Amino acid sequence: MEHNQAKNNPHYSRTNTAKLDISNEEWKKILSPELYAIAREAATERAFTGKYNEFDEVGEYYCAVCGNHLFRSTSKFSSSCGWPSFFEADKDGVYYKRDTTHGMERIEVLCKRCDSHLGHVFNDGPEPTGMRYCMNSISLEFVPDVQQ
Ligand SMILES: [Zn+2]
Repeated sequence: MEHNQAKNNPHYSRTNTAKLDISNEEWKKILSPELYAIAREAATERAFTGKYNEFDEVGEYYCAVCGNHLFRSTSKFSSSCGWPSFFEADKDGVYYKRDTTHGMERIEVLCKRCDSHLGHVFNDGPEPTGMRYCMNSISLEFVPDVQQ
């Protein structure tokens, strides 16, 4: 399994959807510093640097922290914002929170299973939903269809 952002992660599973309640202290020991900063401290990766920004392979996107299913590649679209963008999320995979940090009014997107920060959602996306899920590449793990 290609999973280089975490070492010996006992909480990672693509089949177990049971809610996790893991302290940040514990996550800090498991996750890479880059993933920890974004997933647990809501940092944002630099625009145009993420591995999935310019990427259009067919498959599924999972939470890099816990393996929860988040997006399907068919809902990914090419956006000029600098981060991988989707018009629709797995409704069982994510939840939302109002975020007023950095002097902005935004909607934060979090993983339903492990409560990790994934990115933000905006209402300037394409049809059919009109939504733009602006995600951090590092929070995502892509699995191509051919390997499943
Ligand atoms: Zn997760």
